[in-house]
Amino acid sequence: MKTKFALLLGALLLATTAHARLNIVVTTPDLASIAKEVGGDKVEITTLARPTEDPHFVDAKPSFIVKLNRADALIEGGADLEIGWLPALLTGARNAKIQSGQPGRILGNAGVVMLEVPTTLTRAEGDIHPLGNPHYVIDPVNAKIVAAHLADAFAKLDSAGAEAYRANAKKFTDALDAKLAEWTAKLAPFKGAKVVSYHNSWPYFAARYGLTMNIFLEPKPGIPPSPAHLASVIARMKEENARVIIVDPYLNRKTAQTVARSTDATVVDVAQMPGGVKGADSYIALEDYLVNSLAAALEKK
Ligand SMILES: [Zn+2]
Repeated sequence: MKTKFALLLGALLLATTAHARLNIVVTTPDLASIAKEVGGDKVEITTLARPTEDPHFVDAKPSFIVKLNRADALIEGGADLEIGWLPALLTGARNAKIQSGQPGRILGNAGVVMLEVPTTLTRAEGDIHPLGNPHYVIDPVNAKIVAAHLADAFAKLDSAGAEAYRANAKKFTDALDAKLAEWTAKLAPFKGAKVVSYHNSWPYFAARYGLTMNIFLEPKPGIPPSPAHLASVIARMKEENARVIIVDPYLNRKTAQTVARSTDATVVDVAQMPGGVKGADSYIALEDYLVNSLAAALEKK
């Protein structure tokens, strides 16, 4: 009887081990899409923010605490993008595996060269980019850096899967390399073209494709546009011949339309999160959408 029980227990344990997938919680859908590519069927990915939600201001539900409590790992942006909502959830989750410094706490921006890092750390006037611009995932070169880092981080947590993680990351990277040549060629005719954005979340994208994106509807990241600021934006757009305004799904499209009417500009709906615009559910599909819709809008002007 005892032997039979031991055998049964052994079989059960074996079954659990064979099917144990890493349970990974990711703060935002962009990092989650790369985590899925790298983790494949060896990981279970739970994403906290919705693709149409402002990643700075996510509606932190109590269910997130349960998800974080059960996680083997947490992937976060790493540049204070989630500082407004993640810390309280982590305190509530009481999960030693995902505390800072643990292998289960994975920073998406490891190895990424951050842009707009201020020389002095300040949140003066409510600026929500105190550690540099946190919207780096949208540059495909950064996505490759993220994929390589995730493969290493997953391998540390699950050495048996190391080879698979690295192979998956390579496959994703190769696909990105092929597309990057196409994207770069598509936007090449518009080098230096001015694109106005609502929030300053596009400097990595602009730098990658040679666009100029230095006019924002927000006077500072996170500060709503005032009439006086919008008047100065309209004047600058006319002066610098900027004719395209991009708006993320969670920002005020009406404000963008008002400015567009005064400047004869086109408003283009964009997103940095896969699933944030219709039909762009993967990282590559989203970048395709962005490059094509911007090229079309700039072509018209
Ligand atoms: Zn931001």
